[in-house]
Amino acid sequence: MSISTIGGIMRKEQLGKTYIHEHLYVDLSHIKKDNDAKLDDIEDVVEEINELKKSGISSIVEVTNRGMGRNIEVLTKIWEETGINIIPSAGYYKEPFFPDEVYNLDYREIAKIITDEIQSGIDDTGVKAHVIGEVGTSKENITETELKVLRAAAYAHLETGHPLFTHTTLGTMALEQLNLFQDYKVDISKVLIGHVDLNCDYDYHLRIADRGCYLGFDTIGKLKYEKDEVRIAHIKNLIDRGHIDQIVIAQDMTRKSHLKKNGGIGYNYISETFIPMAISHGITQGQIDHILIENPKRLLDI
Ligand SMILES: [Zn+2]
Repeated sequence: MSISTIGGIMRKEQLGKTYIHEHLYVDLSHIKKDNDAKLDDIEDVVEEINELKKSGISSIVEVTNRGMGRNIEVLTKIWEETGINIIPSAGYYKEPFFPDEVYNLDYREIAKIITDEIQSGIDDTGVKAHVIGEVGTSKENITETELKVLRAAAYAHLETGHPLFTHTTLGTMALEQLNLFQDYKVDISKVLIGHVDLNCDYDYHLRIADRGCYLGFDTIGKLKYEKDEVRIAHIKNLIDRGHIDQIVIAQDMTRKSHLKKNGGIGYNYISETFIPMAISHGITQGQIDHILIENPKRLLDI
């Protein structure tokens, strides 16, 4: 079947190695009151993405949505200048990042906006969203409005069949998100629970994996939250327990200070640093390739 990208519709076989949860242009600065939370350094991002492509990564799922500064014009420019496949998203993030419309509409109306962005296109750009995401919850809490958005996302998924990507705050509320989706009859094999690597607990990860969803080890390189050796140990544990098909990876770059030029790890960190580290800790290149190629292909296919 097919995948909607910034450059048009493509076949799943064209995905190749894929970062599953990333931002190329995002602006949370108005809420965070922090200019670093405005990743709008387009030329620097282009430069880094060109390097990333040389490392063999060919696709990025861009999970920036309404309220997060999603900008299809900029993504189109980045695609034109790098050739990387960019898979755009529809939805709403979490409190306090919801735009006013989320408060004024009911869940069916929100679901219709998401569905329209998938089926007809985003605004008047002609670009169709592919992923419903990143839709999220607060730390150890799901607010009333977040619940409405999760429900809307579930209905948009039921309407379209498109994959549903979540944000968990520090890895919390993953099981609660899954409970809600199950109540709404979502196909759990099309759900990615994001940021589980910010809550590295073997038992917790297994309980999530047992539900049949994907687990996002998608904040790789964010060492102030978790050491990558710990992420690797938890990935290895899931592999050893038979869950390799459910693991996907990314870096979730969101800040100017994440760019190499500004002293950050850069988009290429997984290739340059994390993969060699994972291999030295007993994960094989074949397993890495499976996680970067086969899992995104299966998750994103509709
Ligand atoms: Zn997130």
